[in-house]
Amino acid sequence: HNHIDHADLAKVEAAIAAGDTHAHVPDYEALDAYRAAGGYDSLTSLRQSGDWEAVQEKVLSSGLRGLGGAGFPSGTKWGFVRANAGPRYLAVNGDEGEPGTFKDRYYLESTPHLFLEGMLIAAWAVEAEKAFIYMRDEYPAVLEILRREIAALEDAGIVEAGYIDLRRGAGAYICGEESAMIESIEGKRGMPRHRPPFVAQVGIFGQPTLVHNVETLHWVARICREGPEILSSVEKNGRKGLRSYSVSGRVKNAGVYLLPAGSTITDIIEAAGGMADGHVFKAYQPGGPSSGLLPASIHDVPLDFDTLQPLGTFIGSAAVVVLSDQDRARDAALNMLRFFEDESCGQCTPCRVGCEKAVKLMQADTWDQGLLTELSTAMVDASICGMGQAAPNPIKLVMEHFKDEI
Ligand code: SF4
Repeated sequence: HNHIDHADLAKVEAAIAAGDTHAHVPDYEALDAYRAAGGYDSLTSLRQSGDWEAVQEKVLSSGLRGLGGAGFPSGTKWGFVRANAGPRYLAVNGDEGEPGTFKDRYYLESTPHLFLEGMLIAAWAVEAEKAFIYMRDEYPAVLEILRREIAALEDAGIVEAGYIDLRRGAGAYICGEESAMIESIEGKRGMPRHRPPFVAQVGIFGQPTLVHNVETLHWVARICREGPEILSSVEKNGRKGLRSYSVSGRVKNAGVYLLPAGSTITDIIEAAGGMADGHVFKAYQPGGPSSGLLPASIHDVPLDFDTLQPLGTFIGSAAVVVLSDQDRARDAALNMLRFFEDESCGQCTPCRVGCEKAVKLMQADTWDQGLLTELSTAMVDASICGMGQAAPNPIKLVMEHFKDEI
């Protein structure tokens, strides 16, 4: 596997420990270095004589799927957006608010131009009039890097001034939901929209909009330069491709690990240097809090799209949090529901009231499992967006796997 260097992260941590609270901009690959290594050659040649369908075919054959959590095949999305008359827009979801997820930040703070070139290739493929980047404001270094490098791209004539519109999020988790993000880009309160229509048909200011996650676009650039095989040729446990796991919790070395998509939790803990000293592996969050918790006994399932559905969960943005014998699963689940209670946009009752009720019920020494099950069903069936629909997952999985705690 490919172990990512954590030197920059250590520097940031040292600066913060020394009382430096300003944005610490790590060393990253700036425009000149990126171009010297062949960067933007793909974009330039595509713009001159490219066939968007040939690029789409490459992206499809690589197996690339949306890496923000939903896992929708990226090339297919381009076709959906193009099927609608323009003007069209592209919007990048850089809100990365899923607790435990920090892979996009890692890529943006090291190789921002892979992302920017991938974005411009996708924008070219759907003939987007404009590209919006919705970036998490809690990433000051990333914002600074993007400001500098977008200006450098404009100066170099690679992109027209004003074509890329960098927007700052304001800390609402729900603005990572694509339709809420679009509302926020339009200057409104970020609340998810009903679907249909889908954003590929009716997105920003009512126009067809292609929405991609940051890391997805990083791979689009790499696929164009290095070929679809960089993903499709990696095979493990019957799965193809690579996955950037954000790993934290009771492991020795928390960080981003680029591993085969067929990796199991055993492989991931091993990549992160093993369990922290004095801790015995007990449970794990496979992909963000909405994925809930799985017990250590389920250690041989590949953490990939589709493989976790039979277990009642999903990989999401691949935010893996490892718990040990010193943690209680019920406490972790309560923490997840408290987060959802805070972050519910409040638009629909099953989620707004459901999360609050769930938190109260989960604080009891003995859980009222009948009532929690009924509440979960109402939330899953009647919430408007994925947040309310997935919020009961931690409850259901604790009732299934950690009965002795509740
Ligand atoms: Fe808002 Fe929750 Fe309803 Fe989603 S499910 S629209 S976050 S209240």
